[in-house]
Amino acid sequence: MLHYTCDLCGQKVEERRFIARLEVYPSFDPDEITEEDLDNDNLSEISELLADMELTGELNLDSVEPKSFRFDLCRECCRSYVKDPLARHRLGRMRFSEN
Ligand SMILES: [Zn+2]
Repeated sequence: MLHYTCDLCGQKVEERRFIARLEVYPSFDPDEITEEDLDNDNLSEISELLADMELTGELNLDSVEPKSFRFDLCRECCRSYVKDPLARHRLGRMRFSEN
C-alpha cells in the first residue's frame, strides 16, 4: 500500500487524503509589453525572483510561465487550506506588524 505524506504538515496520511490542485497562467499574451509594465516599479518582482532563485538554485527570468501544482493534504490541513488557499492571513499579519 502506498503511503502519502501531507505536503503541509509533513505527517503521514493514512486513509483520507485530499488533493489540492492549483494552476497559474497568464490571461494575456506574455510577449506583449504594455506601458504599465514599463511604468511599474519592478522591485517586488525582482525580490520574488531572488527568493525563487534561493529555493531552486537557478534564476528563472520567465516568471509568467504557466505552472501547475498538486498537493497531498491530510484532513486537518485540507480544512484550513480551503478556508484560505492563498494564505492571505499571512499577508495581513505582515501588514499589521509594519504599523
Ligand atoms: Zn497536514
